[in-house]
Amino acid sequence: MSNSIALGTATSQPGTIQYGRWEALSHPTGHTEFLPVIIAQGREDGPCIWLTAGIHGAEQAGPIVIYRLITQELVDQLKGTIVAIPALNPAGLRTMERKPYHVDDDPNRQWPDGRPDKPPDPDKDPPSSLELAYKRLFQEIAASADYLIDYHNSSTGSISFSIRDRVLYRGDQDGERNRADAEDLATKLDEMLRAYGHTTVNEFSVDKYIDQKLHRSTSAAALLLARIPAFTVELGTGHMPDRSIVAAAAAGTRNVLRWAGMLRGEPENIEGIKVVEPGFPVRRFRAPRVNEPCVALHLVEAGDVVGIGDPVAELRDVWGRLLENGLLRSEYDGVVLGRAHGIYYYPGNALFSLAIRDDAALVAPYPEDYYKD
Ligand SMILES: [Zn+2]
Repeated sequence: MSNSIALGTATSQPGTIQYGRWEALSHPTGHTEFLPVIIAQGREDGPCIWLTAGIHGAEQAGPIVIYRLITQELVDQLKGTIVAIPALNPAGLRTMERKPYHVDDDPNRQWPDGRPDKPPDPDKDPPSSLELAYKRLFQEIAASADYLIDYHNSSTGSISFSIRDRVLYRGDQDGERNRADAEDLATKLDEMLRAYGHTTVNEFSVDKYIDQKLHRSTSAAALLLARIPAFTVELGTGHMPDRSIVAAAAAGTRNVLRWAGMLRGEPENIEGIKVVEPGFPVRRFRAPRVNEPCVALHLVEAGDVVGIGDPVAELRDVWGRLLENGLLRSEYDGVVLGRAHGIYYYPGNALFSLAIRDDAALVAPYPEDYYKD
């Protein structure tokens, strides 16, 4: 008999898929916004994994992965529980915009950050209704989830890849014990990413990660505050989801369920997509940047491996004539995750999203001033 899990109006029933609504916020027009909830529970006891998608409205592959994955056939073999929310940002999904029209911030930077609540500052806007909703939802994740995957899309034509966040720990109190626990968590996260089986890319350096508020993403809050293995996946093109990537993401997720002891059997092969293993750890990075206005003709594609000095684009003027320093070369060894959209570039614009060599630690203390400001 499995543990009973309830979220909003949905309550798990062993051997079935239950559907419900979790009330998120009220609009001033009298309408309310609920998040759709799916709870799929096997007849046998086991862990609980949360699958979330649709927090960026133009990224529409993740909801399909959830719809394709959760079937009665899966539930018949499942041990434990899947809690899925296929639309974390319903307003953004309606308008195909990253942000919901009622909040002027990236919704995937609105989750709790672990710092103590500050007294209200009358000169600053209070937390948005969406931030307050995610704060409540985070409590639900922390109460029931053993694992979490959050589904996203990167740029048009990009390859499917997973993002590994660095596991941060408090070094200012109980530093040694916290470091040991963080290393255990990072090892579990690594195993979970390997089970998923797509290209794995490490997140930015710690300072940039916090500066960009990436520590407040859905998966970062689960990893850093709930201290459970959790990661974000990027599923290629968002506005026109790719069927092969969707199928490979569903297969990767089933492999995670097998790794977690929630499904029997051998892992499935990840087929129909490029999985790149450059032979060294990589992190995401946008490069190379152009230093004059130009039209770029890209010479490499998403999934290509590039080395230092390899030509990656021809830079031309608007008549199509090659510029004097018109052959742009890579300054890094790495993998092309995707091309920047379009062909017209201003000075300083980067042409590619790359994954380049990463020598930084995957476990690190929070910056010293993190809990002070
Ligand atoms: Zn996204």
